[in-house]
Amino acid sequence: MDDKKRLILHICCAPDATVPVDDLLEEGYSTEGFFYGSNIHPGDEFEKRAAAAVCLCQTKGIECNVMHYDPEKWNRETKAFATEPEGGKRCLLCFELQLKAAAEYAVRSCAGLLTTTLTISPHKDPSVINEIGEKVSSEYGLIWISKIWRKNNGFKRSVNESKKLGLYRQDYCGCIYSIRNR
Ligand code: SF4
Repeated sequence: MDDKKRLILHICCAPDATVPVDDLLEEGYSTEGFFYGSNIHPGDEFEKRAAAAVCLCQTKGIECNVMHYDPEKWNRETKAFATEPEGGKRCLLCFELQLKAAAEYAVRSCAGLLTTTLTISPHKDPSVINEIGEKVSSEYGLIWISKIWRKNNGFKRSVNESKKLGLYRQDYCGCIYSIRNR
């Protein structure tokens, strides 16, 4: 397939990726998963989520690239927003860091398209995520595939599918700050 039609799917976690992977494959995209994870605390939680993302991708027959875990870098980059509430400025920066890492991977692997699983969450604003995705994609010369996965019962479908597959499901967003909201 033409490299420009290859799509990198940024995966925030395996349960959230169930519906996007199925739908993108059905839409004919040549899809590869990318798991970032340096926002996740502690390290053994990262391992569980990364393993679940790889397992999901294997089940669906697509590749999954797991980025090197570097929580110190993520902590340095977001330190100024440590006291922000969940959904505030730290989260916007966190989305951008994740999508930039996925965009760098897309460029390195000669894919032309980028999207994310983040818009399946009922706790996150999909329009803000798509705006960040558009900005990051244009910086990296990629095309952003704008999706709101939570539409049409997307979140409910993802919960059912991840239960069916026995995927690990976390009870907090990921970073050390979000543990207090679990
Ligand atoms: S709460 Fe979630 S989105 Fe916000 S900074 Fe933490 S890991 Fe990132």
